[in-house]
Amino acid sequence: YPKSRHISAFHQQYTLQEKLGKGHFAEVYLCVEKSSGQRYAVKIFTKQPGDKSKNDSLQQEIAVLMGVSHPNVLCLKDTFNEPSHVYLVLELAPEGELFNYIVRRQKLSEDECRKLFTQLFQGIKYLHDRNIVHRDIKPENILVVDKELHVKLADFGLAKIIGEESFTTTLCGTPCYVAPEILANSKHRKYTKAVDIWSLGVVLYICLCGFPPFSDELTSPDFPYSLSDQIKQGNYDYPSPYWDPVGDPALDLIDSMLVVNPEKRFTVDQCLAHPWMTAGTPSVNDSTNGLVSGLAGLEVNRRGVVRQRTLLSAINDVQITNLVPTGENQPDIKIYSKNPKGPDAAAKQQELRPADQRDPKEFME
Ligand code: ATP
Repeated sequence: YPKSRHISAFHQQYTLQEKLGKGHFAEVYLCVEKSSGQRYAVKIFTKQPGDKSKNDSLQQEIAVLMGVSHPNVLCLKDTFNEPSHVYLVLELAPEGELFNYIVRRQKLSEDECRKLFTQLFQGIKYLHDRNIVHRDIKPENILVVDKELHVKLADFGLAKIIGEESFTTTLCGTPCYVAPEILANSKHRKYTKAVDIWSLGVVLYICLCGFPPFSDELTSPDFPYSLSDQIKQGNYDYPSPYWDPVGDPALDLIDSMLVVNPEKRFTVDQCLAHPWMTAGTPSVNDSTNGLVSGLAGLEVNRRGVVRQRTLLSAINDVQITNLVPTGENQPDIKIYSKNPKGPDAAAKQQELRPADQRDPKEFME
């Protein structure tokens, strides 16, 4: 046979370079298009026909990415369906995850956050206007394009295209960022675009102070609430001294996003119109020079309770998609693992896609 018959179409067109990252479902590499010398990221899925959650995630990601085009949403350039792998060639975000950016900087100034959230809200507005819910917003899935802090929403493996009236019942997300309605009793679980606003509220909180609003690390005899209880009750605060330099308008926006009742939670349009977003001027104390050291130490919060704070870098990244339900009346986080076990929640997802898209199932054999 001529040699080319053994070379995959992807490898004929692109040169594979170093690994950029790894997720639950795929590995991501830098690649260079041979014809143009242009650099891209390629997300490589190893086919496992029996792995329903992986296949669903891939189909879902392709379905969403094929229909979107926005400066703050990672763009899909090309796809290759080969015998053992599926390749998604994506726009490159050379600065990597926002997560690492925040960990490096400890926290961001209000001005930086405003710039960041203008883009994130615009990206989410674009998706929500098209009835797409991301469902897994967290700093690891927000990619940084350049040093000017231009960002793009990435990883649409859990995204969902919903009908106007429809809601989804799949348990998904990452514990620290997950909305309270996702943790509600499975019988009554019902959630919509509002889940993305909650997760963005958690991200905004983290960006401004360097630690999460909800954490298992906070649980103590003085504060006997599990992570799940903290989220379901919307039990968070702004401990001093970390929040002292942050102005009230920023806190007001967070409070409007971290509203337990999804119907009362801000929509993305309300977020964009909030005075903190439109202010455009830093608060009096707005400066990254004012970083408070010892973020992981003990502190007294505004309610006078002493708690242990955990740095963002210490959050254990586990997915609720891998939750093993323990029964109708015990829907809380009981077991979670990086290795999916038990009933596959993703299997319950409805498939609703824009009519003009190719069937993503063609990518799985
Ligand atoms: P998850 O476990 O969150 O579902 P996944 O398997 O779907 O992950 P991604 O989150 O899309 O994979 O990618 C894994 C990592 O690869 C990202 O967190 C990021 O570090 C890196 N990465 C992904 N896409 C790009 C890109 N376009 N440019 C640069 N790095 C990227």
